[in-house]
Amino acid sequence: MESSLTARDRVGVQDFVLLENYNSEAAFIENLRRRFGENLIYTYIGSVLVSVNPYKELEIYSKQQMERYRGVSFYEISPHIYAVSDNTYRAMRTERKDQCILISGESGAGKTEASKKILLYYAVTCPTNDHMATLGDRLLQSNPVLEAFGNAKTLRNDNSSRFGKYMDVQFDFRGAPVGGHILNYLLEKSRVVHQNHGERNFHIFYQLLDGGDNDLLTTLDLERKPQNYHYLVKGNCPRLSSVSDKNNWKVVMKALSVIGFTEEEKLLNIIASVLHLGNTQFGEGEEGETYITTETQITNLAKVRTVPLVLLGVQICKNTCKKMISPLDFEQAVSARDALAKAVYGRTFTWLVEKINQSLALKVGKGCSVIGLLDIYGFEVLQHNSFEQFCINYCNEKLQQLFIELTLRSEQEEYETEGIAWETVQYFDNKIICDLIEEKHKGIISILDEECLRPGETCDVSFLEKLEDTLGGHPHFVTHKLANGKTRRVMSREEFRLLHYAGEVNYNINGFLDKNNDLLNRNLKEVMCQSDNQILSHCFRREEVIDQKRPEMAATQFKNSLTKLMEILMSKEPSYVRCIKPNDAKQPGRFDEVLVRHQVKYLGLMENLRVRRAGFAYRRRFEAFLQRYKPLCPETWPNWHGRLADGVSALVNHLGYKAEEYKLGRSKIFIRFPKTLFTTEDALEA
Ligand code: ATP
Ligand code: MG
Repeated sequence: MESSLTARDRVGVQDFVLLENYNSEAAFIENLRRRFGENLIYTYIGSVLVSVNPYKELEIYSKQQMERYRGVSFYEISPHIYAVSDNTYRAMRTERKDQCILISGESGAGKTEASKKILLYYAVTCPTNDHMATLGDRLLQSNPVLEAFGNAKTLRNDNSSRFGKYMDVQFDFRGAPVGGHILNYLLEKSRVVHQNHGERNFHIFYQLLDGGDNDLLTTLDLERKPQNYHYLVKGNCPRLSSVSDKNNWKVVMKALSVIGFTEEEKLLNIIASVLHLGNTQFGEGEEGETYITTETQITNLAKVRTVPLVLLGVQICKNTCKKMISPLDFEQAVSARDALAKAVYGRTFTWLVEKINQSLALKVGKGCSVIGLLDIYGFEVLQHNSFEQFCINYCNEKLQQLFIELTLRSEQEEYETEGIAWETVQYFDNKIICDLIEEKHKGIISILDEECLRPGETCDVSFLEKLEDTLGGHPHFVTHKLANGKTRRVMSREEFRLLHYAGEVNYNINGFLDKNNDLLNRNLKEVMCQSDNQILSHCFRREEVIDQKRPEMAATQFKNSLTKLMEILMSKEPSYVRCIKPNDAKQPGRFDEVLVRHQVKYLGLMENLRVRRAGFAYRRRFEAFLQRYKPLCPETWPNWHGRLADGVSALVNHLGYKAEEYKLGRSKIFIRFPKTLFTTEDALEA
């Protein structure tokens, strides 16, 4: 009967370290499920916050709630994203050490919502700097702008971030936010020209068509219906029930003005020109030459003054390679056009981030300390995994490596400062997989680059062969040929499989070379340099055309930016938020165990719990422990006046703790088993 159940049975434990059977995945998931059923979406693993997306508005984010969490220690009150926000902030203030909060989880799990809640917490609760009263606003308003240009509806999330984001919030000596800086990672540019069924292009296109007033659309030569634009019809999904493009248009325009933006017109010209570009069609002449059949698009493009289009019309159909001019065939012309659209959009996005950074940059004095927020794609295993998933999963390997290193480091440090002997923890070190991907000369990225640069006939298949030659025998690398029928799942001849720390993923090699090359033909770059649109002339520099040196390829660029990110994160004290999606239907109240189990695995939560539980399940500062349990012992009740350690000693002796059950450090008590603590808790309730 419900009433006879103790609270623990009904709502589970608020910290997984208190699970009796901490090695049991079933017990872990059951605890999550119980709490989710009670609308308790947050649970800790020590200092890691696990969050399950409720898919409904909960009344737990009000200003009063923020006040409840201010200055309160983790264990005293139910787990919450505000507790993480507040603890991080206080650690930054008191320890004077830069902090970061790493948010991970799969698409739709609630990462971006979590990062917005953290920002809001700081904007509302931190003191404001007189000179910078509007900085909090600008930090908050950067979100709708970035989401309009970088988010899209996918099958898994109506507002999916299609780029990775790391944001620094800088605080002054009084703890007021005074500046911010954003780093963006790997925007999914392919979405500009293609969307899978049921998905959309980036929100901004639809917002402009739905929300822009008549005059604006006339100036841009645009019609209201998304169906009229090739780049918007691929997914056959022009509207969303959950989002009003029209309202969001207003929100975005307002946000741009709060940020202090003055280039709206130029920016919208670019958005319009991408749509016109998409509608540019080609025909084939008798001799196989290609020409543009849609004169109006060219005129439109010229009108929005993004590209000197007479030039573009000619250039898009030909290719200059070492001074020889060759006409492109039909398919090549289409892909040149698409490459241009992707480059224009991608570079404009990067420019937009730069602009936001200028607006958030410190204007006076200097910041003292920083809290970084990382909202980045989680491990991805789709039906069809390609170059993008390869990069994303590589990123997650690096984050896992960092996580293990930092968690073990901080555990060890705590044991040392408390004067308790360190007990070695066994864990899987994923360095071997990181090396497999990134090692110089023989890692997958190096081989991919080499194959892209190698003169002569190279193709995705020759890349796969090269991988097999170099990496055959590596314990984490498998292909059809190497597997020799030994793998559990059948592999196609166009795949390689990586055994990631979180599980196996098959990658289809088709498109790897092209995506890594990410080439825009030189003629088009030249044309873009001559654009009247200042955003574009800033994005396409003349030096790039003159400079014969090949720019870094996509995977290497990504690898380098990840290396920098790791350095940034290493220099900070990390906190973690692990987000879980409870069902694929985006519905409240549904907890799909299979789906959750999958994520618990891919987020490495069991490993996390094991490391955390390796020594002691539970630790608490002497004063907090005494404060809570002093009524249980006549010596400590109502007040203990001696040394704290002696008080705790008296208390646990009175409670009959055995020597193997606990240890006293310098400032904390460490309790080995949850049972000990529960017995004490029950005594308190009795
Ligand atoms: P992606 O990797 O695709 O960007 P994400 O992890 O950033 O996914 P979000 O966009 O944060 O996912 O969340 C998806 C949706 O889930 C939100 O639009 C919102 O409807 C809902 N959601 C997430 N977190 C919460 C929350 N704490 N309370 C209520 N709804 C939430
Ligand atoms: Mg997101």
